Amino acid sequence: SKRIRIALAGNPNAGKTTLFNAITGARQHVGNYPGITVEKKEGFASSGGRELHLVDLPGTYSLTAYTQEELVARNYLIDERPEAVIGVLNASALERNMYLAVQVLEMGLPMALALNMMDEAAKQGIRIDAARLSEHLGIPVVETVARNGKGVEGLLTQTAAYAEQRAGSWEPLEISYGPDLDPVISEMVERIETEKFLTDRYPSRWLALKYLENDDEIRVVGRKTDKLAEELEAMAAKVAEHCKKTLSTYPEAIIADYRYGYITSLLRDVIVRDTDRQRIDF
Ligand code: GDP
Ligand code: MG
Repeated sequence: SKRIRIALAGNPNAGKTTLFNAITGARQHVGNYPGITVEKKEGFASSGGRELHLVDLPGTYSLTAYTQEELVARNYLIDERPEAVIGVLNASALERNMYLAVQVLEMGLPMALALNMMDEAAKQGIRIDAARLSEHLGIPVVETVARNGKGVEGLLTQTAAYAEQRAGSWEPLEISYGPDLDPVISEMVERIETEKFLTDRYPSRWLALKYLENDDEIRVVGRKTDKLAEELEAMAAKVAEHCKKTLSTYPEAIIADYRYGYITSLLRDVIVRDTDRQRIDF
């Protein structure tokens, strides 16, 4: 059967490399992405008779184009379209770590979440209702301790099964960006969806958001068809001017605010802080 490609994405220090090592053991090799110094770690494993090909993406906090690491991570996800992504999250700082995971979900890729460092979270009196988070997002969520391998087998089984179930389909998470941006996002999506070469390559809503975020890399790609790029840029510029005039802010700031708002309400009934700090065994 076909190899399932799985990319590990997460903030720096979430435990990606530790998890990658726990999964692949000695079956790995390190190289570089072409032309740049960012390290590329690949490895292999098997789970329930399935062959898995793993890639340890560079650690990032976001998927904008501000750093080489962010560009490498997001280009890999867009260009290579792995069958699944494992979002590696530091469970003791879940809100902050979800910011990247939500962006991957907005791209629409099949993703499972590893709530890593559960030992550390437990020490801090933080409990996480993984089943509830899984239910809210409709994706596998598995508690792990990468350092001792706890939860890793279950994570792989669930991720591989979910990848097969999704069969490469994009199912982008749709977050509302409020009354100032939602209408223009819909307008841009409608325009983007008239161009097959774009929708073959990018999730349309994600592409619209990139234009609103003033993302240089994406805008270059849009220039392949000058007229279309100009139209999308004009839509983005118009709403940016409106935001500046009436709200003294920028679309990218509004987008970040709403994304954090979404995460806060998503996690409201998921994280339970144990005020007694009673010992939680994990
Ligand atoms: P990366 O930057 O995401 O690749 O993170 P690393 O794998 O390098 O891990 C960062 C640090 O966290 C290292 O010191 C790891 O030993 C530690 N670490 C990784 N996973 C766990 C875990 O589940 N529990 C604890 N307590 N520490 C962990
Ligand atoms: Mg690492």
